[in-house]
Amino acid sequence: MRHNLARARSCAPSAKIWGVVKANAYGHGLERGMRGFADADGLALIETEAALRLRELGWTRPVLLLEGIFDVADIGLLCEYGFNSTVHCLEQIKMLEYTQLQSPIDVHLKMNTGMNRLGFLPAEYAAAHARLRAIPGIRNITLMTHFANADELEHPRLAIREQVRRFQLGAQGLVGERSLSNSGGVLQQAELAAELSNDWVRPGIMLYGGTPGNKSAADYKLRPTMTLASAIIGMQQLVAGDTVGYGSRFEASGPMTVGVVACGYADGYPRHAPHGTPVLVDGVRTSLIGRVSMDMMTVDLTPIANARVGSSVVLWGDGLPIDEVATAAGTIGYELMCALAARVRVFEGPLGQPA
Ligand SMILES: *Cc1c(COP(=O)(O)O)cnc(C)c1O
Repeated sequence: MRHNLARARSCAPSAKIWGVVKANAYGHGLERGMRGFADADGLALIETEAALRLRELGWTRPVLLLEGIFDVADIGLLCEYGFNSTVHCLEQIKMLEYTQLQSPIDVHLKMNTGMNRLGFLPAEYAAAHARLRAIPGIRNITLMTHFANADELEHPRLAIREQVRRFQLGAQGLVGERSLSNSGGVLQQAELAAELSNDWVRPGIMLYGGTPGNKSAADYKLRPTMTLASAIIGMQQLVAGDTVGYGSRFEASGPMTVGVVACGYADGYPRHAPHGTPVLVDGVRTSLIGRVSMDMMTVDLTPIANARVGSSVVLWGDGLPIDEVATAAGTIGYELMCALAARVRVFEGPLGQPA
């Protein structure tokens, strides 16, 4: 985590970094994220409970709520704990107008530059900014937007440059720091240095050794922060015509050895991962066969000469990029990390010290 954060810094050397730790630090555990990103300038997340937890754990630097307040009752938390709140809609502005702020707060005003999820349109933005500035107790207003396709330099529908153009139009003449880039933007910083001169960047996935696009984490010199590992707990010898698992979806075309891995969809491994999804057994690449079940999956042990019960298995992470597994399973590394189940035992460090 420290290494990847340093990579983000070297991509955007003049920007301050919000380390994004939403969704339980992308499945890594909030506290682990907080420790790993101790050098970040602030931590950003969605959940107010987790923001409180950061304060309890001793995080004294800025905390940004990426969706802001959900309810009037959240405003007290902003004041009491000094959370920086995203403001993305009129309803949130009204809540802030009607509530006496007990102490000054900072906010991020979000512009919708084409993502069409949250934020004010460029044409509405200055008016929203003026309304916020008129509220006593609102201190700094950071100008913010979010990219739809930051992983591609030239997206045919909505290029990052076009979103930047709209942002600059809507933010023209407004004072305040700028916050634009997610991981995709941070990783494009070299190509778009002028357009993406941010005061703040908001990397998430790259801090966990994943990438938002098609390039590999290794291309960006990012290191995996999560390895999902297990072991072979059983073996079967098949002959031609034998099938494996629920639905008997896999049929052996000749003699082969099947290994049973103690990991299934109840651990967060995607059930829809198809035959051929890569797996490492004793460090050797092989593939998933048959259907993933709740607590087990089956792999082809033919390429692994000395495979035995107890052989180590890596499902993703060290030696097997999570993005590659995600692509094979028709999803993204983000989803795999976030879906890691609570029952998975967590170890820390390269050789696995119990957490
Ligand atoms: C999740 C999130 C990020 C981080 O995105 P990555 O693609 O993981 O880098 C940045 N900004 C906002 C508003 C987000 O919700």
